[in-house]
Formats: sequence, structure tokens, C-alpha cells
Amino acid sequence: MRRFALVALAACSATPHHTVPAPPPTTASSVAAQPPPDPEPPALRLPGDVKPERYKLELTIVPAEERAHGSVDIDAVVVRPTRIVWLNATNLGIAHAELGGKQARVIKGGEDYVGLTLDSELPAGPLAIDIAFDAGIDHGKSRGIYAEHEGSETYAYSFFEPIDARRAFPCFDEPSYKVPWQLTFHVKKDHVALANAPVVRETDEPDGMKRVETAETKPLPSYLVAFVVGPFDVIDDGVAGRASTPIRFIVPKGRAGELAWAKDVTPRVVAALEDYFAMDYPYGKLDVAVVPRYWGTMEHPGIVAMGQPLTLIRPEQATRRRKEHYANILAHELSHYWFGDYVTMAWWDDTWLNEALGEWSDLNITDAVEPSWHSRDSRVEIALMAMSADEALSTKPIRRSAETREAIAASFDNDITYYKGSSVLRMFEAYIGRDSWREFIRGYMHAHAWGNASAEQWLGELSAAIGAKASGFRSFLDQPGVPKIDVSCSPGKLAIHQQRALPAGVIDPSAHVWNVPVCMRYGDDKTAHIDCVQLDKADGELAVGRCPTWILPNADANGYYRSSIDPKVAAALLDPKSAIAKVAKPTAAEKLMLIADLRAMVARDEMSIDRLLSLAPLIANDPDPKVARWGRQAAGMHGTGLDDPLYAAANAYYVKAFGPLARSLGWHRARTDSDDRHDLRSSYLTMVARYDDRLGAEGEKLADRWIADRTGIEDDLVATALSVAAYRGDRARFDRYLAAAHNARDRTEQQRILSALGSFKDPKTALAALELVRGKDFDLRDTVGIMFGMLYTRETRDLGLAFVTQHIDELLGRMRADEAAGFLGAIAGAFCDPDRRAAVGDLVASRAAHIDGAQSAVARGLEQSDQCIAQVARDLPAIRRFLAK
Ligand SMILES: [Zn+2]
Repeated sequence: MRRFALVALAACSATPHHTVPAPPPTTASSVAAQPPPDPEPPALRLPGDVKPERYKLELTIVPAEERAHGSVDIDAVVVRPTRIVWLNATNLGIAHAELGGKQARVIKGGEDYVGLTLDSELPAGPLAIDIAFDAGIDHGKSRGIYAEHEGSETYAYSFFEPIDARRAFPCFDEPSYKVPWQLTFHVKKDHVALANAPVVRETDEPDGMKRVETAETKPLPSYLVAFVVGPFDVIDDGVAGRASTPIRFIVPKGRAGELAWAKDVTPRVVAALEDYFAMDYPYGKLDVAVVPRYWGTMEHPGIVAMGQPLTLIRPEQATRRRKEHYANILAHELSHYWFGDYVTMAWWDDTWLNEALGEWSDLNITDAVEPSWHSRDSRVEIALMAMSADEALSTKPIRRSAETREAIAASFDNDITYYKGSSVLRMFEAYIGRDSWREFIRGYMHAHAWGNASAEQWLGELSAAIGAKASGFRSFLDQPGVPKIDVSCSPGKLAIHQQRALPAGVIDPSAHVWNVPVCMRYGDDKTAHIDCVQLDKADGELAVGRCPTWILPNADANGYYRSSIDPKVAAALLDPKSAIAKVAKPTAAEKLMLIADLRAMVARDEMSIDRLLSLAPLIANDPDPKVARWGRQAAGMHGTGLDDPLYAAANAYYVKAFGPLARSLGWHRARTDSDDRHDLRSSYLTMVARYDDRLGAEGEKLADRWIADRTGIEDDLVATALSVAAYRGDRARFDRYLAAAHNARDRTEQQRILSALGSFKDPKTALAALELVRGKDFDLRDTVGIMFGMLYTRETRDLGLAFVTQHIDELLGRMRADEAAGFLGAIAGAFCDPDRRAAVGDLVASRAAHIDGAQSAVARGLEQSDQCIAQVARDLPAIRRFLAK
């Protein structure tokens, strides 16, 4: 699964609690001795005394209806004699249940369980479990079995990770119960029903229905079972790779014309994965099921779910960015076919074994599919997002225990599980060498084929394959934080020191030492060297001849660590004309890391912010556009934390300093522009055009034209133009946007227009936009961007905050738990001044306690807000000084 922040969705729990029938009453005369009282359901995990070996699942699904009906027959084994078989079940109605062919009594088990008993002990040995049930079809949240409208049709999908399979059918809903499943559907005759394994038989049934039987799957945990039902179009895409895997696309009616890119690149992704793992694609067929939103994108074996905004690309929208995004997310999901599906983590404390590995792999595969994109360069930005989260004391390690529902939800932590996890993997991959690493990965896959694995098994095999060089991995897996590496020279040696990197004033009460591969480049005005040291103590050293005049402490930016650098040397390395830069030849990745290291030095109060600000124009004009993009980050002055006059002065400075660059780029791509140079437009136009009359007016004209006829501007600048024009726009433009949202050609387009409504700054117009979030015309999942637009825009942030404060419970009630958690975390970290921080703290803290995954997200958001406030206080004098110049 690929998560990303701020995509809140909605889920209202209007669903009743268990509709399990009450046990039959026992009368005083029936028995002399009462049977023992029913035991309590398990707290979190199933007891393990009964295990499934194979499922047969039948489901009747009509997408427009409120409930699905079904039966599940489980071949199970009683491992230890027991009186009760506990299964996971949430909001299911149980009509009938049998154990070993005898009618069982059904015991209510709270939110997560149902118990079945014959009121006598079940002996060890095989046991047939047969249950007839009904399950809700969710029409407001993408969880369990869910349905969505497209035009006049309704389609059904499934999404179960991590623990929502239990909303669709009773099962052993834990990842270590990995067994074959045979699914059969009863659906309308003109509907398609597809699932993980191929359809083997379709037969007509009365009342306009048909029976669709699929083959038995490879062993799957419950969270990977998946299906779609509805009047889809199914588009054939031939076969791919060494196993000649048949590929098809499953799209809502009439959307086949938007598949050109997906049809082109999907077979290449399959082939690249087979090459990396040196094995055939493991699941026989690949259906790409196009689900309504980015949310819902998921690695279901044989029927990968990919969101409409990723997959469906109209010919005029086929920009590099759209193409790379689809390829990269597909590579992520299909990487999970190995990391997650073929080898599954044993429990949710090792979610990283799925997600860090999937995230690590997706860039490699994208790079193999299209080397000209240099997709691996984005590894630096990924590492930096992780480091910034990892500098909060509330942040947990990559591997963490998961003994509560909160912890299971929190284990899908974008910044840590995905970004830090993949960055640490990349650091060791670079240290060990990509070839040796690939051999280890192949061996690990082979050792756990079709089974489960744990961190200990991973670590054991890593050290067996790689030896001592692997010894540091655990130190990054099990402790939080980022090491900071300081290098200093005394004659004959470089002294290297590590400690935890933390912003000024933040003290970690526990000591951390990492076993970290430090790779450095260093030299003088004639020579350049590279050396690595495995630093397993606080201090270490590297023998050198003379003291170098320059050091890049993070060679090729592969290390997951911060470094302190002499700002003068850093400035020389960032200046392509300097003598040092001509010898050192820092790569784009090294320059990005250098800029981020300077910013982190400012946060640690080791350097004044104006020194970094003064480098920003140099960076913005770097001949490599990948570096130039970072001028904007170097120029950041914590906008939300400044007072009004200073904020205005900062914007005036941006127009003056970066306006010439933005104007020279303009709104239209030049024929000679590379993709990377074109990408600079979204950075610098966003920075300047709201406040620059010429660029602003041009953006307005382009946005108005696009709203009128969807032409006139490159697809990847539409969002920028819409938001600039909204910021500068009036009520009449708002009304035009709103009409366009109502008449949008598809949901992706509608969501894009709706998000721009969050940039109108006139208070009355802003309030009208916010009312759409509560209204019934649009789905909350598509309007939540309005709210964040308001919160992040200075002129409307208090309106946004007042709106959220007033309606927070109603909004949370409409969101799925993980979306609500992300929403609260984003609000917690939205502000950088004490008053709003206090207001937000009151709002989110109490609510987080009741939403799975929200406590961790809120704790980090509030802590980062506090860090920001402290930093603004430190930086203000230097920012004043800088802007006064
Ligand atoms: Zn994933």
C-alpha cells in the first residue's frame, strides 16, 4: 500500500454493532448445572488454538445495495483442544454457523470477534467451519467491501489492509494465516466479477444473476484477498515478461481511451521485477483494477488496485510527471508481490518488511524501466522527509511493537516505516554494493517463498550473506533518531564523532549510538578521494595524509545521517565556478544533501539562517535544474510563523530575488526545455506568481481558459495556475470554478478544481468554499483539500481553523480511522505560532485518543509545531537583518 499525507476520507459509523443473534435462552429446567459463562473475546490477537488451512468463500454482491450476503467454509485444524473457535468479524450478521457439521452457538465478541461453540470441547484435529453471513457494503468510506458511483453506474471494490477483511467475511484476520482461498461470486449477469485468481467458470442463475467461480489462489493472508464487481470494461494488454503473464485493465465503462501509457509501461514493470528477483512473476495473471481514488491503491496479488488519478491519463495529460507517477506507484505495488505477498511479515510489528522494502524497490524498478528519468535521485528527498520526522522525540523506531489497534495503524508511518526504512536499506545497499545486496535479496525471497518472515529472520540472513558489514542495520531498525556526524582534521587523521541530531534546545534523555557506515569524499584543489568507515562507537577516525580543504561527509548522499559542514566550504561546493567545486564535482544528490545539512545546522543553532538565505539565489540558478529546484527550500523563512509586516517583506523579497527566474521560465514550456527544467516552473511560479502582477495576471488568464475549455496550459501546471488565479480571484471566478467542478469530466478533474477552491482569500468566498466541505454536493474525500488550502493560506487560516473547530466531530465521524488520524496529525502540525498551536492542541489531543493511529500522528505534529515556534524565535533577528538589506 502506498500512503500519502492529507488525503482524508470519510467514514461515518452509522453501521450497527454486531447483528449476531443472541444465544438461545437457557431455562432453569433444562440443565441442572449451568454451562460455564462465555469467555471474553481475545484482546487483540486470535488465541492460535485453531488455524485455517483453506477457505471457500461465496459472496452475492450487487454494488448499489447496502449489504452483501455470503458463506464461508473453512478447512481448519484444532491445534490445542478448545471449547470456542474465535474468528475476526466486524459488523457482520451471522445467520447460521456449524462446526464439524453441527450447528454451533454464536457468541458475541465485541467489535472484532465472533465465537462459535458446540458447548463441548473440540478435540485436536481437522475441523470444518461453515458460516452464513451478511456484510455491509460501505458507500462512504473505502474500507471492507465498498461501492462508488461513476456516472449512472455503481461499482464495488474491496480494501482490507490491515484489519478490515473482518468487515467483509468472518476469518482469521492475521497476516501469518497464509492459506489458499477459492472465491465464488453471484452477481448481475451484465456485471464483471474478478478476483485474485482467474475465473474458471461462469453459469447463469435465475433472476438475471450469474455464478462466477474463480480458481484457488496461492497462499494469501486475509488482508490480500481482493475482488471487484460491476459493469466494468475489461481491456486486454497482451502478455508480459519471462512468464508470459497475461495483463488486463479493469476500468469504469467508457474509460479505455485513457490507458495508453499504462498499457505501454505495465509490461515493462513486470519484466524489470522478474529480472531483479531472477524469477517468474508469481501470480499467473495481472489485472490492473482501476479504483476511484488514489486511496485504495493496493498490492492485491493478481488484481493490483491502482487509483484513477494515477492510471487514467488523457492523451493531453501525458506529461513526464504523470507517467513517472504511474510507473513508480505501480512499481511499488508490484514490488509488494515479492515484499509482502510472496513473503509476508509475520505480524504488524514488521510492517517495514513490506513497506520499507516496497519503497526501497520502487525507485530501483522505476529507474530500470526508464533510466532517463533519474528516479533514484528522489531518494535524497525521501531520506530528508524521514530525517525531519525522526528529529521529533515522539517518533518511534522503524520496527516497533504492535500490540494495540493504535499501534497497528501507526505502523504505516509514511515518514518512518516507508521513508526512513527505505533510506536505511539504500544506505546499506550502497555500502555493501548493489550486486551483493541483490544476491542477498534473492536468497531471502527463496528462503521464505510463499511464507512469512520476521525481522530476526531478515537480520540473521543479512549477516549470513554479508557478514560484519551488516552489523549496523539493527541499530537503525530498533532505535529512533538520526545520527549527526562531525568530522574534524588533526594532522594525519580525520576524527569522526556521532551523536543524535536534534534541533537546538531539544534533549533526548537516552543515549543513542548507531553502527553507521560513514562514507566521505574529501580533497583539496587538485585531488578527490572517497573512503568509508564503519563507525560503531561515539568516536572513530580515518587516516589521511594532509588535512583536506574540503569534505563532503555524505558521499553520494547515501547515508542516513546529518553532518555539520564548514559553511564557507559548503558555499564553495555549491558554487560551480569555485576551484573546490571544479575538483569535488558534487553530484545533484550531494548538493541536495548539503543544502539540507545547512538547514539542519540552522535548526541546531550552529549557523545563522541569513547565511543560508544568501545562498538561495546561487542555488536557484544552478545549471542543473534538479539542484536549482532547491533554491526555493534554501530560501524558506517559516512563512506561517512571521508577523504580518515581516511576511509581506519576505514575499516582496521573493518576487525581487526569484521573479527574474520565474519570469524567464514563464507559464509555457519552451521547445528546448528538458523535463527537469520544465519542473522548475511549478516551484518558482508557485513562489512568485501570487504576488507578481505580470505572472499573476497571466496565470489568471490561463486558469480561466482552462476552466472554460480545458486547454491552453500544460497538465502539470494546471493546479498551480488554478491556485494562483483563485488567490487573486473574486466571487465570479469562484462561481465559475464551482460550476466546472459540478460539470467535471471525471473525479480526478473534479478533485483538482475543488482543491483550488481552498485558495480564494476573500472571507465571504472562503466561507462559501468551506460550506462545500460540509455539504452534500461533493464527497468529503474530494473536498478535504479545500480545508487544508484554507489552513495553509495566511489570509484564511483563521477562518479555516474556526471551521475545523466548529465541525471537527462531524468531519471525523465521516472519515475512515486512518484518514481521521492523518487529518488530526496534519492539523496538529499546521501552525507555527503559540496561540494557534495552543488552540489546535486543545482541539486534537483529546480526540486522538479515540482514533487508531492518531495519537502518534498528533504527538509528532504538535512537537514539530513547538520546534517551529522555537526556531522562529531564534531566527527572527537574522531574518529581519536579511530582509532589511
Ligand atoms: Zn506499500
